[in-house]
Amino acid sequence: MNVLFVVSECVPFIKTGGLADVAGALPKELAQLGTNVTVMMPKYGLIPEKFKEKMVLKKVLYVQVGWRRQYCGLEVLEQDGVQYIFVDNEYYFNRDSLYGHYDDAERFTFFCRAVIDALPHLDQLPDIIHCHDWHTGMVPFLLRADYAYYSSIQTVFTIHNLQFQGIFPKGILYELLNLDDYYFTTSQLEFYGNVSFMKAALVSADKITTVSPTYKDEIQMPYYGEQLDGLLRRRNQDLVGIINGIDDTIYNPTEDTYIAQKYSVKSLTKKTVNKTELQKSLGLNVDEKIPVMSMITRLTKQKGLDLVRHVFHEIMSHDIQLIILGSGEKEFEHFFQEMERQYPEKIRCVVGFNEELAHTIYAGSDLFLMPSQFEPCGLGQLIALKYGTIPVVRETGGLNDTVEPYNEYEKTGNGFSFTNFNAHDMLHTIERALMFYQKEDAWQAIIEEAMNRDYTWAKSAFIYNQLYADLIST
Ligand code: ADP
Repeated sequence: MNVLFVVSECVPFIKTGGLADVAGALPKELAQLGTNVTVMMPKYGLIPEKFKEKMVLKKVLYVQVGWRRQYCGLEVLEQDGVQYIFVDNEYYFNRDSLYGHYDDAERFTFFCRAVIDALPHLDQLPDIIHCHDWHTGMVPFLLRADYAYYSSIQTVFTIHNLQFQGIFPKGILYELLNLDDYYFTTSQLEFYGNVSFMKAALVSADKITTVSPTYKDEIQMPYYGEQLDGLLRRRNQDLVGIINGIDDTIYNPTEDTYIAQKYSVKSLTKKTVNKTELQKSLGLNVDEKIPVMSMITRLTKQKGLDLVRHVFHEIMSHDIQLIILGSGEKEFEHFFQEMERQYPEKIRCVVGFNEELAHTIYAGSDLFLMPSQFEPCGLGQLIALKYGTIPVVRETGGLNDTVEPYNEYEKTGNGFSFTNFNAHDMLHTIERALMFYQKEDAWQAIIEEAMNRDYTWAKSAFIYNQLYADLIST
């Protein structure tokens, strides 16, 4: 089977969130199952030089974007059994950030068109094109609208986050996409008077997947459906929820070279070394008895930061240290920085994106807080579990599918959770977790339960592979 992955970010080349982790890990797993995987992504200026040096220019094309023909270099790099093709155009992708530019519609129209124009130049024509999130949403749509001779190629589209949809004024239809009014209908591209990249994919992909079974159900309801729940209900038969895994060559406390002391479930005292090193490095009181709770996250409303803010002083009334690593909305960055000034002994807020620090926080913390309003899958809690750092989460999306609340009577569970998006429910759940933290035997059992479960990609990669095989055979 030949599968072409189309994605806007991918580990180890560039990452802003969980999407890149998935794009980095899943193709490697699929390759191990015998599937030929090629990954296509933009060649951002921000990709480290050590990778750029290895890329080999394979082909130059000129891609039609509205009335212009734009340069498109296809640069190839092979790694871990996967072929990566980088779509090069310095004007579009040599910027100081990946997203949020005034011309994102044009940048990603170019990228989608380039992917399709590149097909004849691949080693083999793909059986499946698997696209991810709105940036790639026009690939399945344009393929069906403009390229009848590719009708045998099946398309899969994965929703990693339905909130980001790529909605742009109607004019892009002619000015960028080279489509006419025929496509501007409610059953096609039109979305409340605009054009939506996300909707383009949802109406045209042969299969739609999302990254957890619970999120699959949630997005068919208005509260989580981002105004696309009706369409998703109509496509219910083609919608599948497959949970993400984590790459255990990157996130694994027994092999992690970023952390002070490697450890496993059999040597948990070594985890304490990571805790005290973390406290030391961040200038917190070094005391292995004080519970350390952390958050590593984009600082946005989605992640439940309103709840944290609402009961912040109540949380701080406990004997606890809080570490926050993240960046995003200024209101939250400023809030946590201000709280650090108010509670200099108890809080560290590091604004920015720092992979190495993230590893030391996962390894050195006791609790990991993730009270998300919605969470398609969530990788933070999976990484935390793998490191024996106990998650406190809201029961939504993938958090609901991966964190089993501790049951003190049956001695089961790998974390703590609450149902409603309510600050005091979160507070009480944190307090409950802190209570069990004091009971050494119970806490040890929860950590063992957390670390002993399988969070790898093996099972889910198998399900994706089966999905591709089924599509090809229909
Ligand atoms: P999302 O994709 O919605 O941002 P996920 O939980 O699915 O959230 O994935 C987030 C990924 O990004 C995790 O691997 C997490 O460790 C990482 N991450 C988030 N913020 C930071 C940060 N500030 N520094 C380093 N890694 C981060």
